[in-house]
Amino acid sequence: SKPAVLVTGGAGFIGSHCCKALAAAGRVPVVYDDLSRGHADAVLWGPFVEGDLRDRDLLARTLAAHEIGAVIHFAALAYVGESVGAPERYYDNNLCGMVSLLGAAEAAGIDKIVFSSSCATYGVPDRLPISEDLPQAPINPYGRTKLACEWMLRDAEVAHGLRFAALRYFNAAGADPAGEIGERHDPETHLIPLTLMAASGQGGPLKIFGTDYPTPDGTCIRDYIHVDDLARAHLLALDHLEGGGGSLALNLGTGQGASVHQVVAAVERVTGRKVPVELAPRRPGDPAELTADPSRAAEELGFTARYRDLDEIVAHAAPWFGH
Ligand code: UDP
Repeated sequence: SKPAVLVTGGAGFIGSHCCKALAAAGRVPVVYDDLSRGHADAVLWGPFVEGDLRDRDLLARTLAAHEIGAVIHFAALAYVGESVGAPERYYDNNLCGMVSLLGAAEAAGIDKIVFSSSCATYGVPDRLPISEDLPQAPINPYGRTKLACEWMLRDAEVAHGLRFAALRYFNAAGADPAGEIGERHDPETHLIPLTLMAASGQGGPLKIFGTDYPTPDGTCIRDYIHVDDLARAHLLALDHLEGGGGSLALNLGTGQGASVHQVVAAVERVTGRKVPVELAPRRPGDPAELTADPSRAAEELGFTARYRDLDEIVAHAAPWFGH
């Protein structure tokens, strides 16, 4: 059987869904998470080590004790707005965590890593849809930490022969179709959860951040990809690296965009409830439109998103927000 996989941030939203997919594929996910944002009760498919990535000794002991063969690295702070107000915290956590992880992996002879990157590394793109060869020019500290981590991976490849897959997610959404795990962020800042909460009367009306964007209905357009599709892409990337494949940087999106108004309409269809909304000013740092050109992931990994219907994505998330 194949070796165990270290999943940093495996108690978080995307990490926990990836652990479920790993277990379904017969792999043992060993979760390493400091629980600063994740949930211990989402660790259901393998051993759990509670720790900080910057604790190099604990990391080294974990890699040895569980005979880890590869790493999937999700653990990071991931709120754009928060990163603008507390950049030092983002650089410390996300970059120092990566330094520690790469050092520990190299010392343990582990040469394969799948990394959670982000479409935030592109900043405001000058072409749409976004392909991987567009310049990476992030416009906030969060995006800069993700881009710097990609640079670290490239340098470690040259220096030590590390092979990596940097997966640049667009907007992760939905939840486990079987309902075992879902999206639980605190504070919640993401559109689909907040819209579902507004529909069930929690937290007041949904604020629509900007209605004067140069888009067909004036609201921002994003590419919402189901978390189960993301999880599957991680397994394909791991298979690629374990099969001897070279390093990759890939977008993970559906290629389809949905506006804020379209998300609100989907939530109303799925829940049968009216969503109270409030028109609000633009949120700083929001590009008008971010949609993926998903073709490289299709070519390199045979990956295409299976969930293409926004209503279905919303329906999987809905039970976690009182529906
Ligand atoms: N958005 C909104 N109201 C909210 C939260 C988000 O109008 O309460 C908009 C936001 O401006 C963006 C889109 O919804 O255009 C998706 O935001 P989210 O925070 O979910 O993801 P992001 O694209 O920022 O990673």
